[in-house]
Amino acid sequence: FWQKCLDALEHELSPQQFNTWIRPLQAEVSEDRVYLFAPNRFVMDWVAERFQDRIEELVAAYSDTGTLPVTFEVGSRAQVAKSAPAVARDPGVSGEGPSLVERTKPDYRRSKLQHNYTFQTFVEGKSNQLGRAASMQVAENPGEAYNPLFLYGGVGLGKTHLMHAVGNEILRNRPDAKVLYLHSERFVADMVKALQQNAINEFKRFYRSLDALLIDDIQFFAGKERSQEEFFHTFNALLEGQQQVILTCDRYPKEVNGLEERLKSRFGWGLTVAIQPPELETRVAILNSKALQTGVELPSEVAFFIAKRIRSNIRELEGALRRVVANSHFTGRPITVDFAKEALHDLLALQAKLVTIENIQKTVAEYYKIRVADLLSKRRNRSIARPRQVAMSLAKELTNHSLPEIGDAFGGRDHTTVLHACKKVASLKEEDQRIAEDYANLLRILTT
Ligand code: ADP
Ligand code: MG
Repeated sequence: FWQKCLDALEHELSPQQFNTWIRPLQAEVSEDRVYLFAPNRFVMDWVAERFQDRIEELVAAYSDTGTLPVTFEVGSRAQVAKSAPAVARDPGVSGEGPSLVERTKPDYRRSKLQHNYTFQTFVEGKSNQLGRAASMQVAENPGEAYNPLFLYGGVGLGKTHLMHAVGNEILRNRPDAKVLYLHSERFVADMVKALQQNAINEFKRFYRSLDALLIDDIQFFAGKERSQEEFFHTFNALLEGQQQVILTCDRYPKEVNGLEERLKSRFGWGLTVAIQPPELETRVAILNSKALQTGVELPSEVAFFIAKRIRSNIRELEGALRRVVANSHFTGRPITVDFAKEALHDLLALQAKLVTIENIQKTVAEYYKIRVADLLSKRRNRSIARPRQVAMSLAKELTNHSLPEIGDAFGGRDHTTVLHACKKVASLKEEDQRIAEDYANLLRILTT
């Protein structure tokens, strides 16, 4: 039956999407679940986030046994065949069944929320404090506190987690609430299907009947005019009815090219909050919390070791921890700093290689639209001196070079100048939200 699911998906997605993400998957059907193997973690996350619910619907429609949970894994089919013997496959062409449309109509009532993404499992830090507080208020007073709530920020910083936390909390307070989470690409695919099947009115009616609509990663609406149009109307209808809308995006909404102006301006009617990359303390707290959840003892110096080196996002942080834990499990060796260093060897080498002072200078110059030569020059007006200080401070944070070496690399400056720059930038980050944001953006660009 997997072939039938594939056929249906091929129908619903663009050829490029299908070929890139769905075709590489290998399916293995066991008695109680369907395993889907992805060639790597990236593909796995991508498909799971956008299409898990749809794939489960298709599996329910086409498998002989009805509903089966779908589990994603990285690797290939052979691995599981040993541990979980596959049941006999679909013998082949089956008789006439209900039409494709009837058999695969999405079950909208089923909640698509991830149960473990709650406020309880969300670690608070300075970088996500506002987003978390706003989300909690929305969860307490959906439709009334902030509408829409718009969360934006780089990848892997907890936007999806927070959004689900709101949905879960709304349902906890009101179990009969109609809460729908979906990825923006899924919205587009559903709409295209509704159009093909002449069911656009039903589509509209359905979306407008929700108590809360959570749409993730709306940057994928860019350039899709018809979807934006439909979304615009749905969105307005929901806001008028005081139904909650929550949106996320990987950047500030005004900066998304190919998004209609009227949509952008409407997004600003509620509250727009940035989620920043977490600071060191928060990264450590997150590692500790994940370790606790999985019942692993994580010595604090190891937590600091990992948190100091994996700065870009929380998903990578989790990945690093998972790897250290798995390695220790395999080898039976205790988790120490040296052990973590070994387990994360390639990851750390990659990072160290990528971030050089030169690279930092180039990136900072581009970011502030000045020349690298300006950074190295003796010019002291603020529009040059500030980026120079930021670049020095980044060099201190991201490379292992000493202060004198950094000074040298910036046109032969003294090490005290570098030290002063680091202190200055640290205090500016506290006082000036814009500098804090610039710095966070640069960190993200340089480390991802
Ligand atoms: P985004 O949607 O911003 O790309 P996600 O919400 O998918 O990021 O988060 C990536 C991973 O990091 C998820 O597994 C999530 O549970 C975890 N995570 C993110 N922020 C936090 C946090 N503050 N506390 C605990 N876990 C977090
Ligand atoms: Mg996300």
